[in-house]
Amino acid sequence: MMGGTFDPIHHGHLVAASEVAAKFDLDEVVFVPTGQPWQKTSKHVSEPEHRYLMTVIATASNPNFTVSRVDVDRPGPTYTIDTLRDLKTLRPDADLFFITGADALAQILSWKDVDELWSLAHFVGVTRPGHVLDDMGREDVSLLEVPAMAISSTDCRARVGSGNPVWYLVPDGVVQYIAKYGLYAAQPGAGEPTL
Ligand code: ATP
Ligand code: MG
Repeated sequence: MMGGTFDPIHHGHLVAASEVAAKFDLDEVVFVPTGQPWQKTSKHVSEPEHRYLMTVIATASNPNFTVSRVDVDRPGPTYTIDTLRDLKTLRPDADLFFITGADALAQILSWKDVDELWSLAHFVGVTRPGHVLDDMGREDVSLLEVPAMAISSTDCRARVGSGNPVWYLVPDGVVQYIAKYGLYAAQPGAGEPTL
């Protein structure tokens, strides 16, 4: 599984998932868009339904990629422990792998009660430009170098807001979805050159 805010989903997420799936011979990668992310409550986050649908669009062409609504449908803030418990309940026989970028891995390792997470999934940390990938000496975390994609959702949102393209940073269908619903819309006048 790969959790994320996916606001919007971009090719960094998709490459990470594809690489881990190939390396660990996974049958499926389940993308899990967050409900209300507890780390990001102070920032504006797009409606869960928009983020869920963009994730569906981005993954639709890959037969091994699926999207789960467990976090979107659970009321209240999203905690990874709940996500893993729900997936385990839905697929009791599955061996769960939790795919995460270097930045998120560093956060997870610093969480309280983190030990409970290890019993539910094997963690795989992937490289991400601008972040140091460190397993802090844990044997239950695997590290994987993936092709460097210097893309973030924050940058994609800023680009849209200032009228710059996101073509080839996010899948084509996601570019069109963003335009269709006016997500990350520019303030009037933003993106126009100031003289
Ligand atoms: P934001 O800028 O809004 O935080 P983001 O690009 O970091 O967005 P998230 O939805 O926060 O995307 O990340 C979901 C997961 O994908 C995290 O584990 C994150 O580390 C990983 N990830 C995101 N972008 C990349 C990338 N370019 N390369 C590798 N991993 C990535
Ligand atoms: Mg992030």
